[in-house]
Amino acid sequence: MAGIYVYSDEPGLVAELLGFALSTGKQACAVTFSQEDADKAQAFGADKVLFFKGASPLAENYAKALADYLAAEQADLFLAGMTPRGRDLAARVAGYLACGMASDVLSLTPVAEGFTVEKMLYGGVAVLTETLASPAVVTIGSGKFDAPAAGDSPVETLEVPSDMRVRLVTSAPLVQEGVDLNKAEKVVGVGLGFSKQEDLSLAEDLAAVLGAEIGCTRSIAEERKWLPVEQYIGISGAVIKPQLYLSLGISGQIQHVIGVRDAKTIAAINTDENAPIFKAADYGIVGDMYEIAPLLTEALKKV
Ligand SMILES: Cc1cc2nc3c(=O)[nH]c(=O)nc-3n(C[C@H](O)[C@H](O)[C@H](O)COP(=O)(O)OP(=O)(O)OC[C@H]3O[C@@H](n4cnc5c(N)ncnc54)[C@H](O)[C@@H]3O)c2cc1C
Repeated sequence: MAGIYVYSDEPGLVAELLGFALSTGKQACAVTFSQEDADKAQAFGADKVLFFKGASPLAENYAKALADYLAAEQADLFLAGMTPRGRDLAARVAGYLACGMASDVLSLTPVAEGFTVEKMLYGGVAVLTETLASPAVVTIGSGKFDAPAAGDSPVETLEVPSDMRVRLVTSAPLVQEGVDLNKAEKVVGVGLGFSKQEDLSLAEDLAAVLGAEIGCTRSIAEERKWLPVEQYIGISGAVIKPQLYLSLGISGQIQHVIGVRDAKTIAAINTDENAPIFKAADYGIVGDMYEIAPLLTEALKKV
């Protein structure tokens, strides 16, 4: 049946993608490749959960089976989460369907002819808007849609062949360094305004009284290596949607701001009144964070 079929290896993202699918009024189906994922997806309010059951544990090995199913059902859209596995599966499915694909889009809107997407170009300097005719394949990240109310969806199990050209040889748990910024309600962001790693304690003290996590710019994580790469925010890092983002010594280049622009409130401290972060911020203080951050920390302790 026509509709929107969603997949992600991250359960939270499955729920968010279903939120989009249900908001269009089209049939919303979750695609899964294991009994465990099917059981989890059942609670997310989809019209149907599909369990593609075969010999492989790898989602990407079902691309052909999934594409054949989507073609037979005349699906409108295959929407995958913007994770390495989601991107891999999406590209293969689009190849088998020989249809239009947009990867890692900023926004997705249903239109009469299909779906309109916005996509960043040239490292965030330009935004491309394009419309894909159905069937289409799109990948998108978390934080774009609200998860639907919980439900109890029927699960349909389909016995399918899997492509065994890629085999799982071994697996090891991923050791995650740093915090999961996606779960943080408040984030204090640090940038190159900090001249020494030890000075980050100013941000840590402020974060402690706010009950916030620490995030940073790419320069802090990749150039200075002061914080784990999991903690950098932006177009090539984490895209977050906290209630509060307080940036300290961050210039606010578009590649960073992309990662926080959906925060409910953005506040910034920067010595340069022309810093681009002030264009994105709801509140700004032009001044030296080395003076202001400790004052804020002390003031917040009294609240
Ligand atoms: C393709 C591409 C992808 C990228 N992806 C990302 C990404 O995902 N995330 C990301 O963060 N960056 C990304 N970047 C890098 C980005 O363009 C910026 O270079 C980077 O975000 C700047 O980091 P910053 O704000 O820490 O440093 P700077 O730009 O050097 O800014 C430091 C700021 O601190 C202020 N300052 C200095 N001293 C003080 C003080 N005492 N008190 C208060 N303020 C002070 C300065 O006025 C300045 O505005 C990307 C770049 C490219 C080309």
